[in-house]
Amino acid sequence: MQIEKQIKKNFDLTPFTTFRIGGQAEFFVIVKNKEELLEAIKWAKAKRAPINILAGGSNVLIVRKKIKGLVIKIAGEHYNIKKNYLSCWAGTGLTKLAKISAAEGLTGMEWSFGIPGSAGGAVRGNAGAYGLDMSSVVAEVEAYDLIKNQFVKINRQACGFSYRGSAFKKKNNLLIVQVKLKLAKGKSEQIKNLSRKNFNHRFETLPKDPSAGCVFKNLQYKDVAKENKQLAEDLAAKGLVRGGKIGAGYLIDQLRLKGKKVGGAEVSGKHANFIVNTGKARPKDVIKLINLIKRKIKHKYKIKFEEEIQYF
Ligand SMILES: Cc1cc2nc3c(=O)[nH]c(=O)nc-3n(C[C@H](O)[C@H](O)[C@H](O)COP(=O)(O)OP(=O)(O)OC[C@H]3O[C@@H](n4cnc5c(N)ncnc54)[C@H](O)[C@@H]3O)c2cc1C
Repeated sequence: MQIEKQIKKNFDLTPFTTFRIGGQAEFFVIVKNKEELLEAIKWAKAKRAPINILAGGSNVLIVRKKIKGLVIKIAGEHYNIKKNYLSCWAGTGLTKLAKISAAEGLTGMEWSFGIPGSAGGAVRGNAGAYGLDMSSVVAEVEAYDLIKNQFVKINRQACGFSYRGSAFKKKNNLLIVQVKLKLAKGKSEQIKNLSRKNFNHRFETLPKDPSAGCVFKNLQYKDVAKENKQLAEDLAAKGLVRGGKIGAGYLIDQLRLKGKKVGGAEVSGKHANFIVNTGKARPKDVIKLINLIKRKIKHKYKIKFEEEIQYF
């Protein structure tokens, strides 16, 4: 098998995560297209090695020192456009998709400009910003089903999108390979302006230190209202409920946790829902800090926080 030569043993994953916190993959390979992915899957199956997928590495905290089996890094960017449909390989970056759309005068991806993840990772987590998310543009997804051992096409409905969730997050057997987006015709200049505005906002408000994006999901107003009616009403009165959601960062900030440190992990001073790696953060530093935030939130507000980042 061609892929065999490219498989590395005991490979440090640190540089492949935006958190710059690694662990070692027992086996590691980079695939850039469907054929290479299929070869890698066959190799792992023949060895009975578990398969783990890493793409942009921008939503993960690697918690294990050693990851058993094969870590497949989805890289490479390719795409094609037919009318207002943009189809791409799962490794294609969100920012790349936003740029292509803008250049083609297609609107729908402006929110994603500057998000460091891939199309596949974004579908799995239904990534979003500025009130929109992948569910608003995905028409169809092609995935490799590790149980059926074949490629399957999944329509938008069957993707089961929810806030930062999808059917793919619930089923680990589906590896996303191709994403088809349905965009709309727009004015190139307007699309570019909105993309630039979003990017500038991101640049000004988000920390530059290594992180994995927002640690916690924002809260649904209706859920908070069930757990702590008074809090929900107070926040609504202050105009802090937007699109039916309450910012997790705002509540963390209210607890004066910005700058709180455990080892090398710190609650960002710029955005309280980000934990940054100040240099030598270990997974356990981040986990301790996450648990501390959850405890304090539960104690003060009687509500539960749920992680947006994925433990790898
Ligand atoms: C500075 C910064 C800003 C961010 N801003 C945002 C934001 O505004 N909105 C937002 O939603 N997110 C944001 N994120 C988080 C992250 O960029 C997104 O969640 C992104 O979609 C993750 O994609 P990825 O390719 O990096 O996935 P990874 O981190 O590589 O993987 C995430 C999970 O998806 C799985 N996975 C990845 N690719 C596939 C595939 N092809 N098939 C099956 N499973 C797969 C992995 O196994 C893992 O469990 C931000 C992150 C950073 C660092």
